[in-house]
Amino acid sequence: MKITTIRVYRAEMPLQHPYRLSGGRLYFDKLDSTLVAIDTDSGMTGWGEGCPWGSTYLPAFASGIRAGIEELAPQLLDSDPRRLDVVNRTMDLALPGHGYVKSAIDVACWDLLDQYAGLPVCDLLGGNTGEDIRLHSSIPTGTPDEMLASIERARDKGYGVHSCKVGADVALDIERIRVIGATLPATQSVTFDANRAWLPDEAIRVMNGVRDVMTYFEQPCETYEENLAVRRATVQPIALDESIQTFADLARAHSDHACEAIGLKINRVGGLSKAKRLRDYCLATGLRMNIEETGGSVIADTGAVHLAQATPASHRRGTWLCHDMLTVDLAEGGARNAGGITRAPDLPGLGVTPDESLLGDPVAVYR
Ligand code: MG
Repeated sequence: MKITTIRVYRAEMPLQHPYRLSGGRLYFDKLDSTLVAIDTDSGMTGWGEGCPWGSTYLPAFASGIRAGIEELAPQLLDSDPRRLDVVNRTMDLALPGHGYVKSAIDVACWDLLDQYAGLPVCDLLGGNTGEDIRLHSSIPTGTPDEMLASIERARDKGYGVHSCKVGADVALDIERIRVIGATLPATQSVTFDANRAWLPDEAIRVMNGVRDVMTYFEQPCETYEENLAVRRATVQPIALDESIQTFADLARAHSDHACEAIGLKINRVGGLSKAKRLRDYCLATGLRMNIEETGGSVIADTGAVHLAQATPASHRRGTWLCHDMLTVDLAEGGARNAGGITRAPDLPGLGVTPDESLLGDPVAVYR
């Protein structure tokens, strides 16, 4: 099988509700996503998607993906998309770093490999565990009452696990955590995600101020070293998310006992091939994972759900479906929220393809 054409599409996807995170300093009302179709001489087409949640969430941005693919595409034409490690080495040689640029291409190659094998992607990522995948909601920063209203809306959609965005000032964050912690029924659980907003002293004061609330705190501070200082001065479990970009980041965090869990976001770590290596390291070392995408439509989410589907529930915390927060839907089928849980499609490949009539003309075609 050989790659004959790489088509690149841009999709603008409004959010159902304006979204603030990191204490309100980061604001989003729509996402700019890049979808990639890889056509082959076999007649099969593979799809992938990259959507880094605007330009402010990570060192990544939507038009950077499209510019990066312009560098990579000529190196990939005529190569065999089923040889995933070869494809990834080719991309890493052509453009060191920039994992978020490569993710959509890597996922499209997984889609092709598994269509060729006649198996769902999860089966080649280790095998379908047959277990449900527990979903978590994403609750934007707001006043305690606004956040409780968002949680209520999420509960109406079946979510029993919530990722609440905090990180403004110490007193207000303690109030938010106390109010939400006291209101939530015992059957529901919550992670408080600061998305890098706190300085170490603020994180330590908040977490020790709610020391009796034994829940996860996620990415308290900007840098790895700041988060490590917080880890050493607090007792609650910590999940690192934005700080984990590479296998080396994960190995260092494990060696330093910097966290008890990670956010394993497919786009941020460079695709399913690299995410699988991080997943396997976490399985071997007892770290738990939120396996999910950085953002995107049901195409992106379904790729992440395949990795979650191939990962034992014992090591998974929750999976987020970005597309469940959008006003547009680019495909039928795929991994959907069914009362707070989901499953990977039991079809060859990703098991979902976008409705091309909704994508318009490609913004670039390489052949
Ligand atoms: Mg996070």
